[in-house]
Amino acid sequence: MITRIVDQQHIAEAANIIRSGGLVAFPTETVYGLGANAFDAKAVAAIFEAKGRPQDNPLIVHLADFAALREVVKDVPPLALTLYEKFCPGPLTMIMPKGDKVPDVVTAGLQTVGVRFPSHPVARDLIARSCPIAAPSANVSKHVSPTTAQHVYDDLAGKIPLILDGGTCQVGIESTIIDLTGDIPTILRPGAITKEMLSEVCMVATHSGEVKVALAPGMKYVHYSPKCDCTMCSPDEIAAVYAQSVANGCDTVVLAQRSTLEKLPISVQSISLGDSPTAIMHELYAALREAETKYRLIIIERFEEVGVLYSVMNRAKKSVNLK
Ligand code: AMP
Ligand code: MG
Repeated sequence: MITRIVDQQHIAEAANIIRSGGLVAFPTETVYGLGANAFDAKAVAAIFEAKGRPQDNPLIVHLADFAALREVVKDVPPLALTLYEKFCPGPLTMIMPKGDKVPDVVTAGLQTVGVRFPSHPVARDLIARSCPIAAPSANVSKHVSPTTAQHVYDDLAGKIPLILDGGTCQVGIESTIIDLTGDIPTILRPGAITKEMLSEVCMVATHSGEVKVALAPGMKYVHYSPKCDCTMCSPDEIAAVYAQSVANGCDTVVLAQRSTLEKLPISVQSISLGDSPTAIMHELYAALREAETKYRLIIIERFEEVGVLYSVMNRAKKSVNLK
């Protein structure tokens, strides 16, 4: 069931489910998570089952505070505290050496573990009342991540006992992942905490840039895909691609920022992504989910890859299934 209004009693019920080996979907500031007790291998295996997630794609362990790291990480690198003080609680996942108490199923057999300290009050309360919670995004594997409780329901109804409804996720895309286990801290997945922000605290590389490292395991899979065709165009190409598609009898929609939509020379069916980079980040997944139910082709605006729009484009490119 979905709890429409989350109160203390619902969170207590959710904490009971987690403690007794069950699954709960819960809001975080990034996207909704599907959580289980991180120390319970059987409960964590049920997450993979519910999502249809490949076994070799590790989960992130969600913690209430820095002190809780002792239970899940072997040697906490000094930089972890610096990053924690600057960015946490918030949308940053740190990869560190795995502690023995964390079952292999959480990390897909890796000797490292991803940990995060969510800032959403419902997530924080749930963890505080239960235990460290292993959670990936609460969508069916390969689908667009959920940013509302309804999105979770649309994907997982009947497969999980409880969805806590904490409203629309503030950030709207998954956390930034930084690997602290190599010589140079390396961003494995860009997010709302950008490379520029991290660079103010430490030297940082990106996986495709200056330093060659293995990709984050989950990155080899198609992610974030809507159920209809999806392509990407620069603002000045949108009108022609749209007109051609409609001429071919294809029901088509444009996902773009408001100013781009206003400047188009033809009238189009559209979903506005808003006016600012943070609005676009916030709106993208909900817009993809709305569009896939109504149209056969989605045209996403190609944004200039600066600041958080670099992270948005990282996800948007993975939604594209037409070359
Ligand atoms: P999701 O929350 O669904 O985005 O999935 C969690 C993602 O975190 C995975 O797909 C991986 O890319 C990443 N991740 C989790 N643990 C690790 C780890 N130990 N090393 C590298 N990446 C990780
Ligand atoms: Mg995911």
